[in-house]
Amino acid sequence: MPVDEALIHSIVQQVMAGMQLQESAAGMHGVFRDMNDAIEAAKEAQKVMRVMTLDQREKIISEIRKKTNENAEILANMGVSETGMGNVGDKILKHRLTADKTPGTEDITTIAWSGDRGLTLVEMGPFGVIGAITPATNPSETVICNSIGMIAGGNTVVFNPHPNAKKVTIFTINMINEASLAAGGPDNIACTVENPTLDSSSVMMKHKDIPLLVATGGPGVVTAVLSSGKRAIGAGAGNPPALVDETADVPKAARDIVNGCTFDNNLPCIAEKEVVAVDSICDELMNAFINDNGCYLASKEVQDKLIATVITPKGALNRKCVGRDARTLLSMVGVNVGADIRCIVFEGPKEHPLITTELMMPILGVVRVKDFAEGVETAVWLEHGNRHSAHIHSKNVDRITTYARAMDTAILVKNGPSYAALGFGGEGYPTFTIASRTGEGLTSAATFTKRRRCVMSDSLCIR
Ligand code: NAD
Repeated sequence: MPVDEALIHSIVQQVMAGMQLQESAAGMHGVFRDMNDAIEAAKEAQKVMRVMTLDQREKIISEIRKKTNENAEILANMGVSETGMGNVGDKILKHRLTADKTPGTEDITTIAWSGDRGLTLVEMGPFGVIGAITPATNPSETVICNSIGMIAGGNTVVFNPHPNAKKVTIFTINMINEASLAAGGPDNIACTVENPTLDSSSVMMKHKDIPLLVATGGPGVVTAVLSSGKRAIGAGAGNPPALVDETADVPKAARDIVNGCTFDNNLPCIAEKEVVAVDSICDELMNAFINDNGCYLASKEVQDKLIATVITPKGALNRKCVGRDARTLLSMVGVNVGADIRCIVFEGPKEHPLITTELMMPILGVVRVKDFAEGVETAVWLEHGNRHSAHIHSKNVDRITTYARAMDTAILVKNGPSYAALGFGGEGYPTFTIASRTGEGLTSAATFTKRRRCVMSDSLCIR
């Protein structure tokens, strides 16, 4: 199909999807007015799911992958237009990555012991109906990736999405249920409510039929699920530093850092949020940012205007600035630049508000340190104990090891862009729920299962 025809097709579908949502979100698969009804429907679907073969679950997942790829452009457009955050091109890539590489039932494995007294298995069984809370920053990506993993584990799921992303979430949940029906599965394998609120979230957290909560978001929501009295997986905030030492390939480090930092306008929680550079290569790195990688050097005056614009007087983020591109942010402070500008850079102390705050904007503050040891100390301080993600550019294996131990994060990328951690130009599978606070790390189907021991006494050992 020629590009313009594809674009027209995508826009028509998007408009139709929007109209459909306005007319009756409740008419879409998996969408309910009341959270209790959503949970009840997901519970009925789980009764069907729990007796399905792994092969049947995999058929549903294949159909979800197919529909996600078919709808990648629509989902990306809807996400950007509803939330005002991120960019369509990178969001399309995120959806394709989620569709193609999120682990399915192959992630569900068994441990076995056999011997004189028989055979014992530890199997990964479903929890039942999982309650998931999803962010505005990767809305449909998180819903799709959570759904694939949770369904692979034999669960069904109820989502309470960010209210600013409810339309794209409803579209996604409808798509997931259509995939299930097309594969011969039940309706309502993923459910949500028309109007997600803190009240609907509270109903979900307290509901007797929700044994496991999964929260992807900032510190508030993670603390809320961890205080619920239920088992909870908390994928919280980060503020990932990228440390560059004097052994690094500096031009490559500059390129990788800017590529990672600007991906989807810095929305991913794993993205480089600030740089710590050893003094002897700091000037070379700054020059590479500015001369070779489309970075704008912000003066003290521009930095002050940015602080006043992107951070509110109470210290919160101005939501109108989150996930915006560098040009838009600069235009908000009266600076007009060309389309070649991808990122804003400046040098400052570690306490600088644009450095110490998790901005989720392509603004990279650079902290100059005298040597590697001071760099490690500074990076640990900047990560604020989130233990989420950190990155390093160094050719010295001992230093990389020292840094990795000191940071103690769920993700550590060496000599690459941050998104290599999600299987983009790096090995391994992707996820948009990185359980930093509760320690499961990059979640997948196995994370959403419980361990069950199954014992055959005195039989079935044929050794
Ligand atoms: P957010 O914390 O504002 O909202 C996340 C979700 O939690 C939303 O659905 C929101 O409605 C809900 N929520 C917030 N406070 C709540 C409370 N007290 N009780 C119940 N629900 C509550 O975050 P956001 O702006 O949507 O996303 C950005 C944040 O999420 C960043 O801090 C980012 O680092 C983090 N994040 C983490 C991961 C991860 O995998 N660790 C992934 C994506 C985003």
